[in-house]
Amino acid sequence: MTNDIYDAFPGRPDFSAALTDGQLARYEQLGTNLEVVERRIADACAAAGRPRDAVQLVVVTKTYPAEDTALLAALGVTDVAENRDQDAAPKAEQCSRLPLTWHFVGQLQTNKVRSVVSYADLVHSVDRARLVESLSAAVLKSERAPLGCLVQVALDKEAGEGEGRAGVAPEDVLALADRIADTPGLQLAGVMTVAPLVGPLAGDPARAFDRLAEIATAVRAAHPAATMVSAGMSGDLEQAVAAGATHVRVGTAVLGVRSPLG
Ligand SMILES: *Cc1c(COP(=O)(O)O)cnc(C)c1O
Repeated sequence: MTNDIYDAFPGRPDFSAALTDGQLARYEQLGTNLEVVERRIADACAAAGRPRDAVQLVVVTKTYPAEDTALLAALGVTDVAENRDQDAAPKAEQCSRLPLTWHFVGQLQTNKVRSVVSYADLVHSVDRARLVESLSAAVLKSERAPLGCLVQVALDKEAGEGEGRAGVAPEDVLALADRIADTPGLQLAGVMTVAPLVGPLAGDPARAFDRLAEIATAVRAAHPAATMVSAGMSGDLEQAVAAGATHVRVGTAVLGVRSPLG
């Protein structure tokens, strides 16, 4: 029996027996953390009167090693997210045999697009027309399946609030969504946000996610297939689920607190 955790598909019966002591301890810790997060999502769905399967957990593995991603796959995680291509590309390569959907959630420079398109199933952080063109060109060149794209909404740019997080101002979301929908190789999948740290919605994730839900509804009116609403992280997933998020992006609560440089 080889200790190849990169074949760690869920339910493989000999899996935990194949782990080193260190891997086994991490596997158990990740399993415990996942149970807690699963309970939080299930409770939030119940409180909102939504079925549990209306919300997909996406585990944000940034700064953690590929080995953790493999252990998560063995624990049944199906969706993982990364925010820096430099870290994500080698991890995705190592984990390429695992049944995982890869989400890219970080600010994306056009010189990284070719690489990201080689492993990402979805990009949550589409925020400018130039990036749309670049993603399209890379997808068409690679002959891969269409790339799912979400418009990243910067709620702190509401009504000219100015510079803040990455993303487009709410009033510009529909134009960028239309552009994605009209661009070959791309599929408009929905909208994404991070609760704002500045502006009128700062410190009030419930209101921020309600605002995102309004924007998502407007996008869906024009593009019915764009059903993804990506919102909520370790600290505010309950508010996101209450507001209708379909995908929560959870890092710390599953993997632990990242080093400050992450
Ligand atoms: C890191 C990150 C997350 C996860 O944040 P946690 O607070 O660790 O759960 C979610 N979304 C994006 C865009 C991130 O960069």
